Amino acid sequence: MPPIAGRYAGLILDLDGCLWVGARAVPGAPEAVDRWRASGKPLVFLTNDPRSAPEDVVQRLWGHGVRGSAHEVVTSGVVMQEYLAERFPGGVAVVVGSPAMVRHVQGAGLRVVSRESHVPDADVVVLAGHPDLSYRELTWAVRAAHRGAPVIATGRDRLVPSENGVVPGTGAVVAYVEYASGAEAVAVGKPGPDAWRIARERLAVDGPVLAVGDRLDSDVGGAVAAGLDAALVLSGVTSRDEADAWRGARPVAVADDLGALLAD
Ligand SMILES: [Mg+2]
Repeated sequence: MPPIAGRYAGLILDLDGCLWVGARAVPGAPEAVDRWRASGKPLVFLTNDPRSAPEDVVQRLWGHGVRGSAHEVVTSGVVMQEYLAERFPGGVAVVVGSPAMVRHVQGAGLRVVSRESHVPDADVVVLAGHPDLSYRELTWAVRAAHRGAPVIATGRDRLVPSENGVVPGTGAVVAYVEYASGAEAVAVGKPGPDAWRIARERLAVDGPVLAVGDRLDSDVGGAVAAGLDAALVLSGVTSRDEADAWRGARPVAVADDLGALLAD
């Protein structure tokens, strides 16, 4: 594989399956990030993980030996915050999500419903998978959606890998609320255009940008639809056979892992 890094002015990196898998760093990935940084060119980490705040992601990066700052981290919570601030300023939201997601919704200037009697006031329903999912929050979301409040989700990923096996992703929460309420959700994370636009703005470069990820649909498909080049790494959820069989948007490169992709 020819050196690819020199062709691009900026890099958008996925996290899970690209830099780490569960609690384990992908071998060679931290060094690959260091090599990119040595070139003086910017990078942004773009993840559909809606559970963590950017500051939490920064802690994980450093824990795996990857330098990074909160400004370089765009989570689907960050994308959600910008989306809500633009479309529902001053609104009232029912939120299914982690404490970090609640802070993003509040940060967008919305009030988060915390009492059942306020559910009918909701202007919008926000859905983001998290480990402490409760029947109560699902019920509030279904009730507000059934009354006609728009439903905005951080993504439609069915499953999320973890150290102990897969866990239900935000897509499973979306399916629950859509099925019960009859509403149809809008997803704002990858592969949607907002996530890529915000990541590009953070890079603040004019030249060509390469997006790297381990999913064909949300990473490669989403990036190409947003006008970016995309590279696939096989260190996450996609196998070589699946990459060969893929008939969607073509990656400019397929590599075993980030280290191989960004080799000198
Ligand atoms: Mg990934």
